[in-house]
Amino acid sequence: MQKRIYMDHNATTPVSPEVIEAMYPYFRKIFGNASSVHFFGREAKKGLNNARKNVAELIKCSPEEIIFTSGGTEADNLAIFGIMKANRKKGKHIITSQIEHHAILNSCKILEQEGYEVTYLPVDKYGIIDLEELKYAIRADTVLISIMAANNEIGTIEPIDMIGQVAHEHGIIFHTDAVQAAGKFPIDVNKMNIDLLSMSGHKLYGPKGVGALFIGKNIVVSPLQYGGHHEHNLRAGTENISGIIGFAKACEIAKRDMEIDNNNIFNLKKKLYNAISKSIPEVLFNGHTEKCLAGTLNVCFKYIEGESILLSLDNEGIAASTGSACSSKSLEPSHVLLAIGIQPEMAHGSIRFSLGKENTEDEIDYVINKLPDLIEKLRNMSPLYNKQPS
Ligand SMILES: *Cc1c(COP(=O)(O)O)cnc(C)c1O
Repeated sequence: MQKRIYMDHNATTPVSPEVIEAMYPYFRKIFGNASSVHFFGREAKKGLNNARKNVAELIKCSPEEIIFTSGGTEADNLAIFGIMKANRKKGKHIITSQIEHHAILNSCKILEQEGYEVTYLPVDKYGIIDLEELKYAIRADTVLISIMAANNEIGTIEPIDMIGQVAHEHGIIFHTDAVQAAGKFPIDVNKMNIDLLSMSGHKLYGPKGVGALFIGKNIVVSPLQYGGHHEHNLRAGTENISGIIGFAKACEIAKRDMEIDNNNIFNLKKKLYNAISKSIPEVLFNGHTEKCLAGTLNVCFKYIEGESILLSLDNEGIAASTGSACSSKSLEPSHVLLAIGIQPEMAHGSIRFSLGKENTEDEIDYVINKLPDLIEKLRNMSPLYNKQPS
């Protein structure tokens, strides 16, 4: 059988066996509706309460501050629309960044169409926002600052504690999209001045279609969907108990294994990084070397298209990405790479390797073995490359 190597963990992760095991009873034995008063319902409710505790522990909030959602996208939507709707009296201005996930950017676009105003902060060449520019963008009618904790394409980690501090000094609510960050480095919402935080199950070895929004005690949010009195009236709909149980188990495991997993993953990335820089000329690594997710390596191979690299890698059984899974269907260069100042031609040649806890050194060796020839072959076919004076 052909080798299959998965290096696209920022798009999604496999579900941990421990997670599947935890979910299993909730399909037939404990299948009740958590709102029902009978035994089946009470058992489901017990599971739900426990799950809430586990998720809360990962980000050091209290369980009542966790609202379960259908994933990161819904958590982001609930934060953006829910806060702006609930705080209309204060104003219509939001501050975010140019490198956010589309769940944030497209929500902001819709709000702009409805008469809200959005400031999209630029970032430096590493993808980090400037705190002075943030302060400069603040207005009397600024309601919300939403800046991601870690970027999905280049892995850059933002100074969220400082951003939160600036927000609070000005009486502004701070939301962070921590879908890529949660479970990968320690988060303490109180110490980091975070009012709202988005998470997703399938980015941390839990199931797809489940996530959460942390909403701090004093923060008022308007619901986006109406129905029963679930999730403190903020998210109507029968709870996805099995999914929530799996997500919570994944959070528990992430908290338990964070340090060791991170070390292993970082060592694998270092090996891949060293091999690429040694054996392939004309490459450019994107993002910050230290303030970066342990497993994310985004690299531009000059003179060739990311799409063709991706297909050649796929041919060898290696799964990577050209950036965000959402933009891979369009031919637009990544908005994140453009924001860090990469030229469009160059941005087209970028590949994101995102490593996970199940990757092995052998797999890295396999990739290192294939990659130089593969790049060389593609470059030899590239008119851009052949035009270069030798
Ligand atoms: C994946 C992702 C999302 C969306 O989460 P889903 O659970 O897939 O809806 C949002 N923000 C970031 C940074 C992500 O990486």
